[in-house]
Amino acid sequence: MRIAVPKEIKNHEYRVGLTPASVRELVERGHEVWVERGAGVAIGLTDAAYEAAGAKLAADADEAFQRGEMIVKVKEPQPSEIARLREGQLLYTYLHLAPDPEQTAGLVKSGAVCIAYETVTGPGGGLPLLAPMSEVAGRMSVQAGAAHLEKSKGGMGVLLGGVPGVAPAHVVVLGAGVVGTHAMQVAVGMGARVTVLDRNVDRLRQLDLVFGNRITTQFSTALSVEEAVLAADLVIGGVLIPGAAAPKLVTRSMVARMKPGAVVVDVAIDQGGCFETSRATTHAEPTYVVDGVVHYCVANMPGAVARTSTFALNNATIGHAIALADKGWRVALRENPHLRAGLNVALGHVTCAPVAQQLGYADT
Ligand code: NAD
Repeated sequence: MRIAVPKEIKNHEYRVGLTPASVRELVERGHEVWVERGAGVAIGLTDAAYEAAGAKLAADADEAFQRGEMIVKVKEPQPSEIARLREGQLLYTYLHLAPDPEQTAGLVKSGAVCIAYETVTGPGGGLPLLAPMSEVAGRMSVQAGAAHLEKSKGGMGVLLGGVPGVAPAHVVVLGAGVVGTHAMQVAVGMGARVTVLDRNVDRLRQLDLVFGNRITTQFSTALSVEEAVLAADLVIGGVLIPGAAAPKLVTRSMVARMKPGAVVVDVAIDQGGCFETSRATTHAEPTYVVDGVVHYCVANMPGAVARTSTFALNNATIGHAIALADKGWRVALRENPHLRAGLNVALGHVTCAPVAQQLGYADT
């Protein structure tokens, strides 16, 4: 199959659909891979590295889209990219269609076959092509929180791990899923005192076995959340109720009573956030202050560490990319129900039930 990787064009997006290692895997299986010139240069993946891996270089986006039978990307296609898609062409990328009627209409009109990373399921449950970005955001959340606890960033001037003779900071993690677990790992590693809250007791049991007495686990209720948040120096929000807006576990009145100079990192902001006081921010201006509490609510945290995120994403996407290239989408999807769950739009129809219902395509 001829596969093409255009350079991402969304604002401040430096990730790239395929790494040179992924290109080599595809080329060694007999596929032809075209990479747009400069696609990975911002994160140190040079054109020379792609050529050494067996890729051919496309001069521009027009050539990439024209060459590829399958287009591999990271972010949802922008209007100029949708305009380049053609009937039957395969698109493999993040789409997030439910809140995006314009993009959905564009993809339907294009006649392309569009597989969304975020709805591909895994044999053990979960969303394995979404998980690596939660891992990145979870680990990054403590890094960002630690930096903003510094005085110059508006924080209370506390070192996360303390020093001998001085107590460490208290990190409270709301939600013990992928984000929460990875946040905890880093917080424990930095020497913080860590409390984690979740409503899933089995999950708390697993974490207790892994971390022992280096963390405190707590069943999440309105009372336990309030007590933990008021005692915290740094709160990480990583709760998710699949398909729903994040529950507002931390009210405005709790924020008003938090320690002055405390920091909240609301990773769940992409689902509306779990603090009543959260609103989405950007890497250019990541924080704002409410009642003396620093709020970090960047909606696309993994974009800041685009190189790590690119490799993590490729580890999760390459297997299905190979199956799609080797077998073609019809056979690959027929054989694998988990990959089939990723099909969102095909040949002019919306094929993902929640997206169809949300956007009124239910009869297609
Ligand atoms: P996950 O499903 O692995 O974990 C969510 C956890 O929240 C689950 O363990 C669940 O039991 C728990 N939970 C639900 N209700 C709760 C409550 N009332 N109290 C305490 N815990 C509760 O999800 P995840 O992969 O960890 O993702 C978490 C959020 O982070 C999602 O909204 C995801 O989209 C978001 N995210 C944001 C970024 C970003 O850049 N901002 C990046 C990646 C993921």
